[in-house]
Amino acid sequence: MSKLYDFTQLDALSRCEVEFSYRYQQHLQRATPDASAHFGSAVHAGVRALFDGKPAGTYEDEKDALFAVSEAWADGCASEKKPYLTLQYAHEVVKMYAKIYGVGGREADALDRVTGTDSGVHTQPVTSSPFSLVLNEHYLEWPERSLCGIVDRVVRSRVDGQFYVMDLKTTGLYLSQAWFEQWRHSLQAAIYLDLVERALFDQSAEPVAGFWVDAIHVDRRGYPKPEDFMRVGPFGYSPALRSELRGVVDVLVRRAQDLDQAAYEPLKNPRNCYRYNSLCSFFQFCTLEPADRADAMAMSVASGELVQEEWVPALRR
Ligand code: SF4
Repeated sequence: MSKLYDFTQLDALSRCEVEFSYRYQQHLQRATPDASAHFGSAVHAGVRALFDGKPAGTYEDEKDALFAVSEAWADGCASEKKPYLTLQYAHEVVKMYAKIYGVGGREADALDRVTGTDSGVHTQPVTSSPFSLVLNEHYLEWPERSLCGIVDRVVRSRVDGQFYVMDLKTTGLYLSQAWFEQWRHSLQAAIYLDLVERALFDQSAEPVAGFWVDAIHVDRRGYPKPEDFMRVGPFGYSPALRSELRGVVDVLVRRAQDLDQAAYEPLKNPRNCYRYNSLCSFFQFCTLEPADRADAMAMSVASGELVQEEWVPALRR
């Protein structure tokens, strides 16, 4: 089977081809994970457990979710640069998420259509929620387009009865109007809408009505407040807009394939060396004399500063 690309890979590629090459061809990454990403993964694991088909608001539910947070946390280590991003803060975020939204319950029929089996999941949706859960954190593929990805949630609105993709975002940025507006025109959203439609429905019917962002603001305070949690949507994607974004995704996939087949040399994009208040993980190498880079990287691997680990989209790591 040909190699599949997810949004994380294509996003790196559109940022900088050299970064794509370091990360996804040479499989290099920093040994110490970025503190924000590590914190976000732990919160994702907790929210996934909250949604995992159990009745909402029970003690068992919350206990399971906090255990999932701790487990994901143990997978990495926090950066000293962000001491406020603690395990306790991640626990408090997940507890407040459960309190604000309530969770649990999915529609077994749709789940079974994806997996092709009887999931055995037949819990009742939480009636107080404006959504019922169709799919919880699920890996999907579209091999003909060499595309794959893990979709956080597919939900059905109780208000209009339509299906939506809902993606959880933890961010240190303030939840401004502009921050939300970006999801009206997002390659990630376009990929997820396509993957879900292909897996769940007849594509020609375009039955996924749009994209919701399930946002959590994370900051230096080190504890959550209710206003840190905002669900915004739906962001509608018309068939024409979907088609346009699909074209962009397909071009990126072809470029990734060309790079993987060594059809051309990856191009540096120094414009993106600094992003989100930090430098690219490979900055120290890109600023060396070209002839010295390979040795410097080999030394960093030998010293443990860099590790080689293949990206597995189905595991999101
Ligand atoms: S440091 Fe800049 S040029 Fe080098 S890989 Fe990162 S983004 Fe690309």
